[in-house]
Amino acid sequence: GGTIGILGGGQLGRMLTLAGRNMGYRFVTLDPTEDAPCGQVADQIQANFDDVEAARRLAARSDVITYEFENVDANVTNILMEESYVPQGSHLLYTTQHRLREKRAIEAAGVPVAPYAEITSEADLREAAERFGTPCVLKTATGGYDGKGQWVLRSLDEVHEAYETLSRAKTELVLEQFIHFDKELSVIAARSPRGEVKAFPAAENIHVHNILHESIVPARIPVPVQKAAEELAIRIAESLGVIGLIAVELFLTKDGQLYVNELAPRPHNSGHYTMEACRTSQFEQHVRAICNLPLGSTELITPVVMVNLLGEHIAPLHDRLAEPGFLENEDLGVSAKLHLYGKKEAKEKRKMGHFNLLTDDVAKALTWIEQTGIWESK
Ligand code: ATP
Ligand code: MG
Ligand code: MG
Repeated sequence: GGTIGILGGGQLGRMLTLAGRNMGYRFVTLDPTEDAPCGQVADQIQANFDDVEAARRLAARSDVITYEFENVDANVTNILMEESYVPQGSHLLYTTQHRLREKRAIEAAGVPVAPYAEITSEADLREAAERFGTPCVLKTATGGYDGKGQWVLRSLDEVHEAYETLSRAKTELVLEQFIHFDKELSVIAARSPRGEVKAFPAAENIHVHNILHESIVPARIPVPVQKAAEELAIRIAESLGVIGLIAVELFLTKDGQLYVNELAPRPHNSGHYTMEACRTSQFEQHVRAICNLPLGSTELITPVVMVNLLGEHIAPLHDRLAEPGFLENEDLGVSAKLHLYGKKEAKEKRKMGHFNLLTDDVAKALTWIEQTGIWESK
């Protein structure tokens, strides 16, 4: 038993709560949004994330505290650590909040990242862009998500404009060489305080407009490459002393080279497939890890494709939902497991839910996605 506090009340907190409640835990979330997705299934303290008094109230009510996003204010982290128990600690947040610190930590684990350079002036940017060649990718060191805070330089003519634009964010900048990847993968690993580590099967991720669209598992790559990706995630989890989950986003090139793109110290959208397709879901695994329970088996029970439902997909979904043979398609052999996050306004690009498509062959699930027509409006 006991109460788990979650900083952040979005869909990740909601699914964490749903998993942890089955294990007998109570949940309380801190989030500024009224009726947040997690607040619908947990108690909610409605306040801003930098509200120190609200953080104290969360600490007072929680035996264990975790978070569902990485941009947690250092001040708030300190309060939570002093007044409650934050098994994940502050160091992992400090590292993953900043792309340069994160890349250095990955390199220290002996794992490759795309060649990068710290950029502190326009002259720096010009020099590094000349060295890496174009295209190359300028990113803000902090605060970016869904491709926000990034500029892909197609030619050196863009140096001035790219620097002017991104340096307005008042954070350090980093330039990355463009990796002409064959596939994007991710691996989610968990580590517990007693040092047990397990990785989930590698997912093959397809992004549309920089937002995750599909995760395909098993990834359509040779098994030794899947294993190499999983081992690499385990090495990172051990080297960084991770407690809880760490999601590792990777690029795979044609010649079989793996590079880490970035990390997320929390449940990850590309891990939602585990909810029905693995013996243990990423959410249950996170609860086990932060509560120092033995980790669950990460074995894949069935091939699966996870497909995201964004705001623009909700109306076409409702047109089809009640149709016989839609959720349970016997012709294709696809069982569609629907997850909706309880968000009221279906705004464009907003993550509203996802499907886990269970099948004996991921190609059938991809056909199901095409046949529904729901994702045509990309
Ligand atoms: P999120 O946190 O939502 O995953 P983000 O804003 O932190 O996204 P990244 O993951 O760094 O952004 O990049 C978004 C996408 O842009 C990547 O998934 C990849 O498709 C592409 N990308 C990023 N960096 C590179 C690179 N160096 N070479 C080639 N493609 C890249
Ligand atoms: Mg990111
Ligand atoms: Mg990313």
